[in-house]
Amino acid sequence: MRQIRGEAVSSLFEKRVWGLIKPAPLCKYFSGPEPAQPDRGLTPAELGAFQDESVREVVLRTYQNSPFYREKMDLAGVAPESFSGLADLGKLPFTTKDELRGKPWALLACAKKDVALIMVSTGTTGGEEIYVPSTWKDYYLHELAPGYPNLVPVGSGDICLNALPYEMSSAGLAFHKVFMDGCLSTVIPAGKGGAYSTPEKTVKMMRDLQPTVVITTPSWAVTLAEAAAAVSFDPAGLPLKLMWLTGEGCSPAFRQRVEKMWGATANFYYGSLECGGVGIECHEHFGYHICGAHVFVEIVEPETGEVLEPGEIGEIVVTCLLRYDTPIIRYRTRDLGYIDPDPCRCGVTLPRLFLRGRVVDEVVVRGISFSPYYLEEFLMRLEEVGNWYQFVNPAGAQHLTVRAELAPGVTPGPELADKLASKLEYGIGIPCEFELVPKIPRSTGKTVRVVRE
Ligand SMILES: [Zn+2]
Repeated sequence: MRQIRGEAVSSLFEKRVWGLIKPAPLCKYFSGPEPAQPDRGLTPAELGAFQDESVREVVLRTYQNSPFYREKMDLAGVAPESFSGLADLGKLPFTTKDELRGKPWALLACAKKDVALIMVSTGTTGGEEIYVPSTWKDYYLHELAPGYPNLVPVGSGDICLNALPYEMSSAGLAFHKVFMDGCLSTVIPAGKGGAYSTPEKTVKMMRDLQPTVVITTPSWAVTLAEAAAAVSFDPAGLPLKLMWLTGEGCSPAFRQRVEKMWGATANFYYGSLECGGVGIECHEHFGYHICGAHVFVEIVEPETGEVLEPGEIGEIVVTCLLRYDTPIIRYRTRDLGYIDPDPCRCGVTLPRLFLRGRVVDEVVVRGISFSPYYLEEFLMRLEEVGNWYQFVNPAGAQHLTVRAELAPGVTPGPELADKLASKLEYGIGIPCEFELVPKIPRSTGKTVRVVRE
């Protein structure tokens, strides 16, 4: 087994940690031509060669060090010595959320004492917790090593307001790490919904510190903008060059509302606790560029597990390329999507991932399933409707009930409810009913858009 990669990584990692070299130093790790940046500098062939080599190394090392994966590979009849790389990836067994539930140490391919951080799933999919431990090396290497300077154009001098939750899970901490350690920018750890993290306090920090970058969830972006409006502070006056939205999905129409409130472009970021960053949107807002320098993404048929071709919709399966001590191999995310390998107008050559939601979140009316974001798109185009709503969707629903706040200054009434219902029905083609309410309860956790009462 070659040791070069491991040694090169740890020595570069140490240099990075001590600030001796510039951000994205581990681009050298790809031994590609300069500038070796995976989102533009590496050719698809060079990136493919790196992924191939990386998968081989992760599999070999995992087999040697992880009882959990070794047993799985033995059962599947995969011998790591004859594992050729990406071409053989489909022979490896999947890793599922259920296999990890309630087993905090299942992923370890290292000594327990080397674990530096343990994060836990936020539990939105139910069941026992999933714990994701990381060693120092994995934690920094996995997402920081490659750097995606064209997709994450943040650097020294930028002030990044991080309004994601910092507790338990990875969201806030992961971006804190990327912005502070990876991009060498200034981070404001505003948090979201924590003990000290009120919208009012965050607005005060915005006003005083004038961030140039904001990252938060779509619904918290609205919460903060409303808190700002309450003290006559206009976020569109901030020197923002970019916003990132993550943690929740939303429709294009909702995103446009956020962009208008903040006076900035809002790009989405797709990732998870288990896999870290998986995809980053560019300004084209047309798919997530897959973070191919630290994850390899497959799309599989959810029932049979068969690997699908580009353009075919299936379950997103992720293999982490730079997690050696707590490897993630062929992890079934339960998210649906497809891959488009065609070039993007932005110039970034990384293939794009298009998300198609989760089956569990769907709204079912008259036996037909709808993505809540599809419905939200039509709802948010109605300018009388405010930014807060719920789809009330009991089992066997024969029409769509929308419980919604109105936009400021709009007067409620039965006539308006009927008018909105018929406009929405015209858009989505199913009968609708509006329940206009003064206030939808705000959540400091994930915003609930579909209720089954
Ligand atoms: Zn692009």
